[in-house]
Amino acid sequence: MTGRLIVISGPSGVGKGTVIAEILRRRPDIWLSVSTTTRVPRPGEQDGREYFFVSEEKFTEIIENRGFLEWARYAGNLYGTQRDPVAQRKSVGTSVLLEIDLAGARQIRRNDPDALLVFISPPDEEELERRLLGRGTESSYVARDRLARAKDEIAASGEFDRVLVNSEVSATADELLAWCESSGA
Ligand code: 5GP
Repeated sequence: MTGRLIVISGPSGVGKGTVIAEILRRRPDIWLSVSTTTRVPRPGEQDGREYFFVSEEKFTEIIENRGFLEWARYAGNLYGTQRDPVAQRKSVGTSVLLEIDLAGARQIRRNDPDALLVFISPPDEEELERRLLGRGTESSYVARDRLARAKDEIAASGEFDRVLVNSEVSATADELLAWCESSGA
């Protein structure tokens, strides 16, 4: 049996990373895809762990070689999921988790009818706004761009198979895993 794709999207600052860490702790058999990006690493990020950090030239070359399963521009940078590592895991029956934006989730929806698409939404949009603007990892221009994106993404959450409100990480992970398991992932 081939593995399933589990796509997790949601606005920046909603706590996707924490939910994903909890899922992988409980289901170490699920493989988290490492995306490729042209964004510069944040302090503490390592090449090959959080992302593969590449130049725009390299990213364009991968696009031209049809190396991406999906890719998108987000807040001025390019992000993509490389096709081969995902296909390899799926072919041996491993479920693969992708943490990608709305545009990427839409590409997966079009190309893989078996994919499970989950949207993680904030319990409180005003709190998310405060967090995004106050995070301090980005300039205020970038933070505002991420906030505008967050609003667009929340408006499109109805396109996903499941919307989970992330009030409490372990409850969100429980719900997500229960749903994936009932869908055979
Ligand atoms: P960040 O710069 O905060 O790490 O990520 C910004 C956004 O890019 C997040 O919404 C994240 O889900 C999205 N993202 C990360 N990797 C990929 C990818 O491979 N493809 C797409 N389409 N979006 C991605």
